[in-house]
Amino acid sequence: MQRYFLTEPYETKDRYMITGENYHHIVRVMRMEPSQQVYLAFSDRLAIIAEITDITEEAVYLKEISKEQAEKELPVNVTIACGYPKGDKLEWVVQKGTELGSHKFIGFPAKTSVVKWDYKKLGKKTDRLKKIATEAAEQSHRQFAPDILLLETEQALIDFFSSYDKVLIAYEESAKVGERSRFATVLSELAIGGSLLVVFGPEGGFSPAEIDVFQENGAILCGLGPRILRAETAPLYVLSAISYQFELV
Ligand code: SAM
Repeated sequence: MQRYFLTEPYETKDRYMITGENYHHIVRVMRMEPSQQVYLAFSDRLAIIAEITDITEEAVYLKEISKEQAEKELPVNVTIACGYPKGDKLEWVVQKGTELGSHKFIGFPAKTSVVKWDYKKLGKKTDRLKKIATEAAEQSHRQFAPDILLLETEQALIDFFSSYDKVLIAYEESAKVGERSRFATVLSELAIGGSLLVVFGPEGGFSPAEIDVFQENGAILCGLGPRILRAETAPLYVLSAISYQFELV
């Protein structure tokens, strides 16, 4: 069943009205008709099953059938921060990482990021990534679409460290010296509902100077196993492992 994200919080109503892009998708793309059902996901993460009652030239009207019961979100609140990688890799991370349950994505300029982003265009890039996240959240039946934040400095990322319960740096050099336990230890220390920021380097990895500053600000370095993963693979490994740890019990 199709899922549509609405910008307003849930409110009990006799009927719900959908216009704009969601209207276009329901009517023109899916060619739905009255009596068909969809999920409506509200901004406060509540979702309902709703049945189409009427379709006009401008709006689709629906009535509530029932509240969605199942919990779809990771029990811990995970933010994935990526040093800006080349090409469209960040889009890939956002799409797949949304399916895997990330709550938020942050992009930042790491020292070895080769791509030089035009910061005037960050607004446009943010909008594009938000659209990708929303589509992925709809198709994976998430309760909300993850937030996207594109930063202009690495310091802006560090300023966020204190707002998380734990901050992990996925560090290739830790993996190379056989560090295998910190990721699991940090997950075991996280309470349900707790928050975790995991930071990943771009293709060139992290410089020792960056690592020093991260550690001075309370971050923990960890390896992700003996193989060196691509910049876009490592976040997906982490999200999969978190799902395994918290959801497959
Ligand atoms: N150029 C680096 C090298 O040759 O060692 C590899 C960088 S890797 C392609 C990009 C990022 O993915 C790293 O900075 C790190 O955040 C993450 N990463 C990849 N494999 C990892 C591993 N086994 N352990 C921890 N982090 C890893």
